[in-house]
Amino acid sequence: MTAIPDYWQNYIGGQWVDGGAGRIAVTNPGTGEALAEQALADAGDVDRAVQAAKAMHRSGALSDLRPVERGRMVQAMGHYLLHHKHEIAEALTLEQGKPLWEAVIEVEGAARYFEYYGNQAETVEGRSIPLGSGYVDFTTYEPYGVSAQIIPWNYPVEMTARSLSAALVTGNACVVKSPELTPLTNAWFAKAAEAAGLPEGAVNVLCGLGKDAGAALAAHPEVNQIVFTGSVPTGIAIAEAAARNVVPCVLELGGKSAAILHDDADLDAFETDIRWGIYFNAGQVCSAMSRVIVHASRHDELVERAANIAKSLSVGPGIERQEFGANMGAMVSDAQRDRAAGMVSAAEAAGAKVAAGGRKLNIPGAFMEPTVLTEITPDMAIAQEEVFGPVLSVLRFDTEAEAIEIANGTQYGLVGGVFTQDLDRAMRAARQTRAGQVFVNEWYAGGVETPFGGYGKSGYGREKGREALWNYVQTKNVAIRLR
Ligand code: NAD
Repeated sequence: MTAIPDYWQNYIGGQWVDGGAGRIAVTNPGTGEALAEQALADAGDVDRAVQAAKAMHRSGALSDLRPVERGRMVQAMGHYLLHHKHEIAEALTLEQGKPLWEAVIEVEGAARYFEYYGNQAETVEGRSIPLGSGYVDFTTYEPYGVSAQIIPWNYPVEMTARSLSAALVTGNACVVKSPELTPLTNAWFAKAAEAAGLPEGAVNVLCGLGKDAGAALAAHPEVNQIVFTGSVPTGIAIAEAAARNVVPCVLELGGKSAAILHDDADLDAFETDIRWGIYFNAGQVCSAMSRVIVHASRHDELVERAANIAKSLSVGPGIERQEFGANMGAMVSDAQRDRAAGMVSAAEAAGAKVAAGGRKLNIPGAFMEPTVLTEITPDMAIAQEEVFGPVLSVLRFDTEAEAIEIANGTQYGLVGGVFTQDLDRAMRAARQTRAGQVFVNEWYAGGVETPFGGYGKSGYGREKGREALWNYVQTKNVAIRLR
């Protein structure tokens, strides 16, 4: 295993720098011990990063390039990540808690964004609009300028890759505010930008507290566009800050996503969906399958299978879990774990039954048992609020209409799923589900190519896919009068 440096700096205008707000201690949630210190930015650092990004943008060093050149640089950043896959994955496991094999998947997923958007560079084309013989008219797509990207702790590498790759390929300069719980791995994006030959100021990476550096970045008058992934309350604060500066923002917020399991569903196959849908990254996934709404005739069988999966997972330090298998790592922090365990206790008090797990592990580190809850009714807090932990809530239905109503009955609408062998029934559910993405017979079907984003309080705008490119460009129309 590679040694982790004791201290990690921020990266502003092509320089590694200390933070105006000092340092923050980063904890290894797999042991509860101190891991490293990270420079903590203040509003002055944020301003320097924004000015560096603005200066780079105004110079045209990125936006004036032929798109294929930008595309190659973005692809080279992905190659850099793959080349350093194992050291990044180790640091990710140590700061975030996930099993090492999951961390490797995350780094590969991050590299995939640079591959995909690098390939899209040359596809952002305008059109010509006929205005009669006296005119030539065309549209171009221009970068906004300075893109501010505020990142959550659950997938710090993949979430940064998602916005950074699309923003750079369209010619924007980026200021990334990394999450204070898991800031370390974001350093590799700065290294990747250097290795790929991006101009200084194109990629700035700084960690700071949300209420300080995050708020200063969201409110900065020279920021031209904001991408935020995180919780609903913070999303609202960021949308307010964006509105005050009249800049667009993309909000990727939480979810309480449900799988509808019909009486004809293939329960053998669905076991895999339970495994990935709710226990991957210890359930700290915005699009987690946190609810299963099962037809009453299959309820008991489903609960037994789900409980067996939960009980089969070995839970412990991610760094010891190197191979793909029946295992789960730590949650990101004791506070997140205690919050999830508290929500389970409150659900029990409200009438829920624990079919598996339900408690925190009595060992050092932020560990929680993989949990299955039954006897949940749609009005309970556990059925309405995001746990963001390894907790599956099982609800039952009798009619198809009832299933859809329960699935749509939260403030969220990130993803949804339907499991049936009846195509008509699947298509009805796909149409009626109020969510940005619907999975039929496989949770998480799709990829970097498929657009992702929420309905309702899950946010607005789309990341991933071709759709995401349009977050980072504005249309200009040029009309020429011919003489
Ligand atoms: P959070 O909202 O607390 O923090 C997210 C980021 O925002 C962090 O970098 C934080 O420092 C920053 N921040 C906090 N307050 C801020 C402020 N006032 N102004 C500017 N920035 C501020 O969320 P979290 O706890 O880090 O992440 C968990 C939440 O994120 C969950 O609700 C989860 O569903 C959601 N999430 C959504 C997606 C998605 O793609 N939709 C992905 C990952 C996480």
